[in-house]
Amino acid sequence: MDPEKEMDKKAPGGVYLCQVNENISCGACCGLYNVQDLSREKLYDMLLRRTDDFSKVPREADAITNFGEEVLCKNNKRPYDEFYHCPYIGLIGKERMRTGCLLHPLADGNNGVDYSGLGFYGSMTCHIYFCPSYTMLPENYKRIIREAADDWYSYGLIITEIVLINALFSEIDSCLQSKIDETDIHMNQALIGIIKEFIGFKTSWPFRPSSVTAANYFFKDKLYERKPVDYSGINPDRPVSRYDLIFRELGSSFNSVEELRNAESMMDDLFNRARDWKI
Ligand code: SF4
Ligand code: SF4
Repeated sequence: MDPEKEMDKKAPGGVYLCQVNENISCGACCGLYNVQDLSREKLYDMLLRRTDDFSKVPREADAITNFGEEVLCKNNKRPYDEFYHCPYIGLIGKERMRTGCLLHPLADGNNGVDYSGLGFYGSMTCHIYFCPSYTMLPENYKRIIREAADDWYSYGLIITEIVLINALFSEIDSCLQSKIDETDIHMNQALIGIIKEFIGFKTSWPFRPSSVTAANYFFKDKLYERKPVDYSGINPDRPVSRYDLIFRELGSSFNSVEELRNAESMMDDLFNRARDWKI
């Protein structure tokens, strides 16, 4: 059987989301994005340096835990205090083009030995954890996001966003007046372009203030829920935007009616293009 299909078969919800291909993977539950500066460049540089440094660490318990402690000291300020940032999330694969666990038996230098028991969560948790997206997102949506993402950075930022992903596809379904299907995506580059553009909003949404992190806290304890968009300051009489749910999930804040209109125009433009495309 095709290895991808085999992984899908074993995954809860029928679609394997963690390691997708050579350059698409996620490390959100390892706290990958729970860092002060999660810009693509900064995060990539940090992971590359960490992976290089770890390649020189002897594969001995003390050396590995010392490495972890040093990395943690450098990342002690996190947007979500109660959530960890694992020092062993790094870059893996032939060209180090995706994120993954440096303690995994198949990671460079580990010679088939599983060192994940030395991590904060212990090997059991690391091996059996599946985030809520596995079971709470429709299979079709997961396949489409997996297909449309360009790289690990944007994929890992969006794949845990259950509410946002559902809102995106519900808009697209209503534009198409039909349920979007994975085969539609294969057939139509314009449609895949729309999804890619939306994924791009997650990484560079201009109406998210710098004080709000793009990282998603998706754990069931709901310690850090997204704040509702506050429209009162810009126009007390204005009803909430029709894109309110999407704006909230993108962490938006608007300083003027004009800003809000610009944000709505960006969404209108995107979804009007979906309307032009008929299944
Ligand atoms: S957050 Fe979900 S998709 Fe991402 S690595 Fe963890 S379990 Fe996999
Ligand atoms: S040790 Fe666990 S939490 Fe850390 S990177 Fe590996 S899988 Fe993620």
